[in-house]
Amino acid sequence: MPLWKINTRDNPDIYATAGAVEGLAKTKIPETGVSPEEAYNLVRDELYLDGNARQNLATFCTTWVEDEVHKLMADCIDKNMIDKDEYPQTAAIEARCVHMIASLWHSPEAEETIGCSTTGSSEAAMLGGLALKWAWRDRRKKEGKPCDKPNIVCGPVQVCWHKFARYFDVELRQIPLSEGSLHIQPDQLKDYVDENTIGVVPTLGVTFTGVYEPVKDICDELDKLQIKTGLDVPVHVDAASGGFVAPFLQPELLWDFRLDRIKSINASGHKFGLTPLGVGWIVWRDSSELPKDLVFNVDYLGGNMPTFALNFSRPGGQIVIQYYNFMRLGWIGYREIQSACAENAQYLASKLADLPEIEILYNGKGALPCVCYRLKKPKAAHYTLYDLSERVRMSGWQIASYPLPADMEDTIVQRIMVRHGVSHDAVDQLFLDIRKSLKYLSKNNIKWSDAGPSFSHG
Ligand SMILES: *Cc1c(COP(=O)(O)O)cnc(C)c1O
Repeated sequence: MPLWKINTRDNPDIYATAGAVEGLAKTKIPETGVSPEEAYNLVRDELYLDGNARQNLATFCTTWVEDEVHKLMADCIDKNMIDKDEYPQTAAIEARCVHMIASLWHSPEAEETIGCSTTGSSEAAMLGGLALKWAWRDRRKKEGKPCDKPNIVCGPVQVCWHKFARYFDVELRQIPLSEGSLHIQPDQLKDYVDENTIGVVPTLGVTFTGVYEPVKDICDELDKLQIKTGLDVPVHVDAASGGFVAPFLQPELLWDFRLDRIKSINASGHKFGLTPLGVGWIVWRDSSELPKDLVFNVDYLGGNMPTFALNFSRPGGQIVIQYYNFMRLGWIGYREIQSACAENAQYLASKLADLPEIEILYNGKGALPCVCYRLKKPKAAHYTLYDLSERVRMSGWQIASYPLPADMEDTIVQRIMVRHGVSHDAVDQLFLDIRKSLKYLSKNNIKWSDAGPSFSHG
């Protein structure tokens, strides 16, 4: 007879209960429930198989927060940010964040402009793309021209732009990469932009490599194109990561609303915005740039609040924490954290650069705090970077390895993100594991291993 059946105490040991002896239900909701402690322990135990988020250096997203953040998140667990009338202060805090971010990105009307929180940069990209599509269609209709073949021009974009293009029926014109050119080269634009281009989307912090696309040069090139052809092509910047890095680490860099051609910008609060998972932001340069018929008005404190979103119900905590972070850290606090990340990333790059097997593609200087590299002689090595990722996983590290986008698909790279909470000593430990793994791999011929790409798009 199983132990739990002869255990007649009121509080049986959790590991002597039915759930622990027979296993938890997998396909049907069980008839009866169990105590919260039993459910908590047994469900939590399943999670041991997940990777350790702090050692996940494939992700751009927040994996370390202060205790106060846990508390404030718990305080907000029952609040729905969409209910502006019921939770007017959460709504007010969201609006404050929008205007602070607009000001951080130099909107000429930071205190009045329009913007909103989203579930992340992906939803923000859908909204930015939709606004571009609507504005383009309005212009074309006024000119009496057809508007059935919209296209959007970009460099090596994150998967959300592929989704936007497919879901909303827009042709994605992705400018291919080439050896020595890991982002849009402005003089390539003329071959991709035409009267059906709803916008150009440069990325500030390319997912694949961490570099910034040359946003100012792209805008200058589009200015030249306008003089030549009359085409006035707007720009949306995908600053998912860079939007909360560049203002602090590269404040002189011109990539934001200081450039007139830039109509909207998105960023992920849950990446270098330092909030827990579940918040992104989009801001328009001024409220006239957001087509009116995309906006829904909701009642709010007896008044009216414009909203633009794909999603409805969503927790308010992440928005409140974004505001907490702005208050808690200030501009200087953000700068200190991002500088520490950049310093540790550059330190890691300098160590990796000394390894004979590795060629650094981006060394953490000038853009995101991360390192991107490839094997110096991938054809001669009898292992791949996929094998290296698999090997360091034995010590818990997760490092993304993947092919670059077209036309560099033959190049496999590895990218290590250095975020808030990744210390100098953690970087040292990781480096020693990489070095040890490379030694192991070069001694053991595993050319035909099954290891494949491990890519975190975010
Ligand atoms: C992460 C990322 C996204 C997607 O952002 P989420 O916040 O994960 O939805 C979009 N674009 C870029 C450049 C990214 O790095």
